[in-house]
Amino acid sequence: MVSLLVQKYGGTSVGDADRIRAVADHVARTRRAGNSVVVVVSAMGKTTDDLIRLAHEVSGKLPPRELDMLLTSGERISMSLLCMALADLGVPAVSFTGSQAGIITDTDHTKAKILEIKPERLRKAIADGYVPVVAGFQGMSTDRNITTLGRGGSDTTAVALSAALSADFCEIYTDVSGVFTADPRVVTKAHKIPRISFEEMLELAASGGRVLALRSVEFARNYMVPLHVRSSFTWEPGTWVTEEDPQMEQPVVSAISHDTSEAKITVREVPDKPGVAAKIFLAVADAGINVDMIVQNTSVEGFTDISFTVPRLDIAASLAAANRIAQEIEAKQVISDDQIGRVSLVGAGMKSHPGVTAKMFSTLANEGINIEMISTSAIRISCVMRQDVVERAVIALHEAFEL
Ligand code: ADP
Ligand code: ASP
Ligand code: MG
Repeated sequence: MVSLLVQKYGGTSVGDADRIRAVADHVARTRRAGNSVVVVVSAMGKTTDDLIRLAHEVSGKLPPRELDMLLTSGERISMSLLCMALADLGVPAVSFTGSQAGIITDTDHTKAKILEIKPERLRKAIADGYVPVVAGFQGMSTDRNITTLGRGGSDTTAVALSAALSADFCEIYTDVSGVFTADPRVVTKAHKIPRISFEEMLELAASGGRVLALRSVEFARNYMVPLHVRSSFTWEPGTWVTEEDPQMEQPVVSAISHDTSEAKITVREVPDKPGVAAKIFLAVADAGINVDMIVQNTSVEGFTDISFTVPRLDIAASLAAANRIAQEIEAKQVISDDQIGRVSLVGAGMKSHPGVTAKMFSTLANEGINIEMISTSAIRISCVMRQDVVERAVIALHEAFEL
């Protein structure tokens, strides 16, 4: 049976000329096995980081429209080079920017959301026997500007295209051999998980396990696109991200993730009356900032403290919004803390196994680690702590839960 697959190659996978030729070779082999392939590529190696650094060197402002225009150039380099390497192997290939591939986004520069995909050009290229190679992480907004989808957004391009083209599945090629029980760069004993549910992967991606971008997992779950996360260095079978198998017993804890990219904002001595929280978070949301964890202390003599976490990049904007509201509601002051980190346990089996939280807290206590904030979902427990103890916490929890 002929399958249609989407293959996405991350930055390290197309990091230099040899890597690009190796990827071309794999695409050619996939075709020879009788499949149709659509390829999505990231920018080579650290190109995106280098471009951001360059932008900072020329400007203190970084107008978002121009930043997007700059960053999308990284993916253009890899898409055209890969098509050239494929041409050498006799594989007809044609490159498309996000806009040419019909990816329409909203107008929120640097973190645009895909609204619609018009994949006619890609369909025609496939029907004509070409391999379309699409620049990841980008699209064209409803007001016809070039946008990017947020860091790691090539995953989202790949999964969204898989859904739009009704691909049989989507392969995410990266520099590790799959989704591990913890970041293998932090826990050397972490091991590959052969299969994980969309729900667990969503929680992992949302809590810092950067192997898949959060938005890509949302697309995969909503459109039922099976994902295969695997290595472009060994090409061995990796991790399948699919629907939960109701026949199978779910592990209590499947994986541990960590995130050191957030900061904490605290609004102190907020008058404890209806409507104040709504005011604060409306202002933050209006500034386009994604709030993650929220904690409100018990009220003492009519006043309370409200703390929340935001991406560290958004500290200045969050402080500005919170300060404005603090004045209006007569809160005492707003402070920020950029030295926090978050460690999370994720596992579908938590739903039916009490005691996981207690074990997590006592493991951290034994390590002398202070917990500053806590949040839970049905299948996740997260603790905020000092940033410099995060790796120690991950290693201790990995050991304690025998992952
Ligand atoms: P790419 O450039 O291919 O998109 P990323 O750097 O975005 O690659 O994602 C792969 C990295 O994710 C790995 O190198 C690894 O350090 C990190 N990572 C974090 N958590 C996990 C996890 N649970 N399993 C596997 N990799 C993880
Ligand atoms: N090149 C972009 C980034 O570094 C997108 C991606 O790699 O997915 O974030
Ligand atoms: Mg990535």
